[in-house]
Amino acid sequence: MKKIIIAIDGYSSCGKSTLAKQLASSLSYRFIDTGAMYRAVTLYMINNQIDIYNSDAVADALKNIHINFKLNTETQSQETILNGENIENEIRINPRVASIVSDVSAISEVRRFLVKQQQFMGNEKAIVMDGRDIGTVVFPDAELKLFITADPMIRAKRRFEELNEKGQHTTIEEVLANLQKRDHIDSTRADSPLKQATDSIVLDNSNMSRDEQFNWVMELVRKKLGSAAE
Ligand code: C5P
Repeated sequence: MKKIIIAIDGYSSCGKSTLAKQLASSLSYRFIDTGAMYRAVTLYMINNQIDIYNSDAVADALKNIHINFKLNTETQSQETILNGENIENEIRINPRVASIVSDVSAISEVRRFLVKQQQFMGNEKAIVMDGRDIGTVVFPDAELKLFITADPMIRAKRRFEELNEKGQHTTIEEVLANLQKRDHIDSTRADSPLKQATDSIVLDNSNMSRDEQFNWVMELVRKKLGSAAE
């Protein structure tokens, strides 16, 4: 069976990881949420009081950061491990992480450090990776590239509900402001800005259910898998 790389990019809180997870599980592919890696680096910088505007301090700190993923067999989802500690919940709900992750992600040393690891993870293909620069920088030759977008208010509501379920109380306005701020920083940074790869397929999922979105994308995957021999 032919193996491909599926690159999923797009704005914050568009459900990229949900889609990536569904695809990976139905294809028996590996799933990597690169946002979790940027969040893990950010948490390390916060916990160790690293001045993120001092590039020497950042470069030094990166030498001490080891990130990997571990499958939670109960929930069947991947959890992020930073230097041996499970930080999955912390990186999702800590408002400090959400507020500075885009600044940390704009640092070239951080991007080089993580992109190298992401490219290594994909060297045998059979991977679904989601982020902001996967189709443009990490895997410019990915066989299938998707660019996901949705109405900002719909995204904010989805994220608000997700945070509420995790016991993090906030307001829709706060969530909306954070995702718009991140989208702005992510799209305007000098190094690897969030942008559509010219050969990506755009999907606006504002009015789509998870299942509709999944079925729509699976159709594209089937075409890609059928279009060439191994
Ligand atoms: O995907 P998620 O919202 O968890 O990503 C958090 C942040 O990490 C993004 O807002 C962006 O600043 C950064 N990021 C990035 N490149 C990626 C993935 C995430 O810059 N490939």
